[in-house]
Amino acid sequence: MQTETEILQAAAPLLLSWFRANQRDLPWRKNRTFYTSLVAEIMLQQTRVEAVKERYVAFLEKFPTEKELALASEDEVMKAWERLGYYSRARNLQKAAKTLFEEGTPRTWVGVRSLAGVGDYTAGALSSIALGLKEPAVDGNVLRVLTRLLADGSVIDDGVKRKFTQLLRAVYPDSTADFCEGLMELGAIVCVPNGAPFCEKCPWAGLCRAHLAGEEERFPVRAEKKARKVEYLDVFVLMCDGRYALKKRGAGLLRGLWEFPNRVAATSGGADLPVGVLLAKKTAKHIFTHVEWRMTGYLIQVEETTSDFVWATAEEIETLYAIPSAFGAFTEWVK
Ligand code: SF4
Repeated sequence: MQTETEILQAAAPLLLSWFRANQRDLPWRKNRTFYTSLVAEIMLQQTRVEAVKERYVAFLEKFPTEKELALASEDEVMKAWERLGYYSRARNLQKAAKTLFEEGTPRTWVGVRSLAGVGDYTAGALSSIALGLKEPAVDGNVLRVLTRLLADGSVIDDGVKRKFTQLLRAVYPDSTADFCEGLMELGAIVCVPNGAPFCEKCPWAGLCRAHLAGEEERFPVRAEKKARKVEYLDVFVLMCDGRYALKKRGAGLLRGLWEFPNRVAATSGGADLPVGVLLAKKTAKHIFTHVEWRMTGYLIQVEETTSDFVWATAEEIETLYAIPSAFGAFTEWVK
């Protein structure tokens, strides 16, 4: 029987050939620099490829190099990041851009890992893709592909991650970028997470232990997830003479972004409303990693503006104020 290393040694060249023939045409695969790879990897951390494709090009038009991003205001960066979610990534990306601008591009995995917002996975991806270093990047996608290839039924934890990092390091070919991206691409379009993988299109079909046993979907084995917390929120879109009330969020989730006035409620609906004419009401929900917001929104015409809020026109909201997508259902009222 082949050892795990032998299987991976046989798998590496098959993956490279497959990736070169089948890779998707994605904007961050063209004219790559360390900075553009950093932007792409940070955007891709928690956002779907399709959503990143739209925002990546516009972001680089606004901030083509680390210099422009390093010197931008926080509000400009947040606006350019709008709809990508997980906004702390944008703040960290700007910090990382300042480091690149002031100190130059890092040359080692440790240097890459020390950039703001860069964890082990992203450090591996940037080292492999932009620096040509044999440093594996192991995330959930890669773990899925590898646990299937080796039919490894261990419950996924840091120890399993370390094991696969070491196994990959031992077989890493010289084409580090294609190998790293090939693993990600296989997980994204062939060895997919939900439903049956497309083994008939997989370069590893003849090697893969899970496939040969007809047990692809038994892997990976994950620990049970904790239930997500539910919070109820009343959201008030206050309108006065074509202007809408906004305030900046303080500490915690979505810090520094702009929002409509809101408050945590005991349950959905039933709020004491601010004084004014109620024009519309609707419910919406938004799911974060650990929290689900169930929101009831109220569009209310008020008689006077007050100094507790910034009062912005629809055009100003469109161009200047980054409102997180969590409030997207109520942004539709701003016209
Ligand atoms: S053969 Fe199937 S299960 Fe195995 S790695 Fe390929 S797609 Fe995944």
